[in-house]
Amino acid sequence: MLFLSDLLVFDRGAVARAVAFLKLLNGLLDKHRRYSSSYYGDEWGRGGHLAWFAAGACAHAREPERALSEACWDDLVLAGGGLTTLTDCLNKARAAYDAHRAKEEAAQHARDEQRKRLRAKPEALRAYLQEKHLRFQGEHLAQFSGAGETALHLLLSSTEPMSEIERDAFAAITRQLTDDPLEAEPAPQPVPPTWTDTEAVAALVELYRGRQRARVEELARRYGEGPALRRDGERLVDGGLLGGYSWDSLEELARRDQQARREQERLRLIYLDRREREARRRKHEAGVAARLAHGRSVVYAIVDRDLLRVCTRCDEVVYPPEPERRGTVIYQQPSQPSRCQFCGGSELAGWDPAYQSELEYGPGRRLLGSDLTSGGIDGLMDDQAKRGGRL
Ligand SMILES: [Zn+2]
Repeated sequence: MLFLSDLLVFDRGAVARAVAFLKLLNGLLDKHRRYSSSYYGDEWGRGGHLAWFAAGACAHAREPERALSEACWDDLVLAGGGLTTLTDCLNKARAAYDAHRAKEEAAQHARDEQRKRLRAKPEALRAYLQEKHLRFQGEHLAQFSGAGETALHLLLSSTEPMSEIERDAFAAITRQLTDDPLEAEPAPQPVPPTWTDTEAVAALVELYRGRQRARVEELARRYGEGPALRRDGERLVDGGLLGGYSWDSLEELARRDQQARREQERLRLIYLDRREREARRRKHEAGVAARLAHGRSVVYAIVDRDLLRVCTRCDEVVYPPEPERRGTVIYQQPSQPSRCQFCGGSELAGWDPAYQSELEYGPGRRLLGSDLTSGGIDGLMDDQAKRGGRL
């Protein structure tokens, strides 16, 4: 053992040299200890492996039997008068070594316990991965199709207790990790998913899509339907899933759209008044025969075409800006609208009579999500047909 080989024995009359040697050794150890604590401090404990280094010296090299039996040994403490026996010296060295070993074993035991816990409890492993900021950079999760990958990322970042479906899908994630959960990181290569993995992830996508649809519908009831909820609802209908960021900002965007909708309503009513005036002024633009057949709506259609736009980005009607008031004078902007007041988009398409009912009656419930597949679409077609007739 190390401490045996480190023992030095000096010849008789060399006590001074033995003490000098121990002092020198002490100095060297001190110096080295300072380095090793900064280099290996954590790994080896404070002071590095030198912490349990022991040395002793005595002056009986010519009478080794005395060296074995008498209390003639000085050690690194340099106690001088209080000399000890070789056995005590060795035991003392052994004690430091044993303490170190015990500490190591305790740390190892704690690691084993944590490893066991991480293997047994998916929630604990997930929290541990979150703490480690684990990221899958490669194809590990991407190989589960677009919505599958999104669902797995949502699952990884969630802190809610897992349902059975989530536990099964989480098992598919853990198969993409290296074996030791304590050192968890993505496997060097993506692991091809088993049939069970694929099934579990598909079930997770369904679960999350159901939750997201319910949430979108609930928000639409509370805040009314705006571009944000419409866009997200459509993504869910198309088989997609909202990522973490969209999911987290859903309510905020719905609330913002609700405020924009109020302003939109104000602009709509202002526009309807303006259209009435314009229609009176421009009635000659429609032929007499057309006016006789369809009434004023034929002139409305002309004004709508001139003054209204549809935002290609968020699919909302874009009304002309409000008349500008300066003192008692009101300036009506002759120009067409240039920006959507919902999304600020400036790519505007020409007026489309498909938005007629919204223009006339305000924001009805547009078709959202499941409505598109049920009777809703027929209702829309009926409305369109009626509007077409009225025009
Ligand atoms: Zn827009």
